[in-house]
Amino acid sequence: MDGQVTGKQMPPIQEGQCGIQSPLALTAITANGRSIPLSAAVTTDCGMATALPDWISEVDNYLKAHDKTQIKTIDVSTSYDCRNVDHAKVGNLSFHAFADALDVMGFGLEDGRTISIDPGFNGTPEQGRDILHFARDSACTHFMTVLGPDADSFHQNNMHLDLGCHGKLCTARLCE
Ligand SMILES: [Zn+2]
Repeated sequence: MDGQVTGKQMPPIQEGQCGIQSPLALTAITANGRSIPLSAAVTTDCGMATALPDWISEVDNYLKAHDKTQIKTIDVSTSYDCRNVDHAKVGNLSFHAFADALDVMGFGLEDGRTISIDPGFNGTPEQGRDILHFARDSACTHFMTVLGPDADSFHQNNMHLDLGCHGKLCTARLCE
């Protein structure tokens, strides 16, 4: 895993149409030479494990430049989850069902602050509005789908990141 994440290889997951051949259980992301722990272990595929360190490094650099602090912890919620998009009873399987997605709630900072999507994203600069908007915009260059509070009611307290396919050539990005 290139030393960019901390975690271990897990046995294949197979649940109906959901699953993943080579899941990873990640406990920390390495950014700018530091190992930054996740609030809980997450199950992802290799693509997510590769994209996350680059994104976290950019957010970390932003904090250093603008707030003179750094990321201490990454607050996460859902990773692998065998379910449809937006928990709907019918419809397409979510990319969570293939461990190709992660929901991020916010960040703990070295200066003691906790920056959360809710209420920070639409909150004050002290609540981390600018940081979270930067995090969203930066995520849009590393992931294929980014859904935050601007997207819909399902993403008011988390930012959904995935590497899913959009468009005929799988090159379209969805950034909200
Ligand atoms: Zn999600």
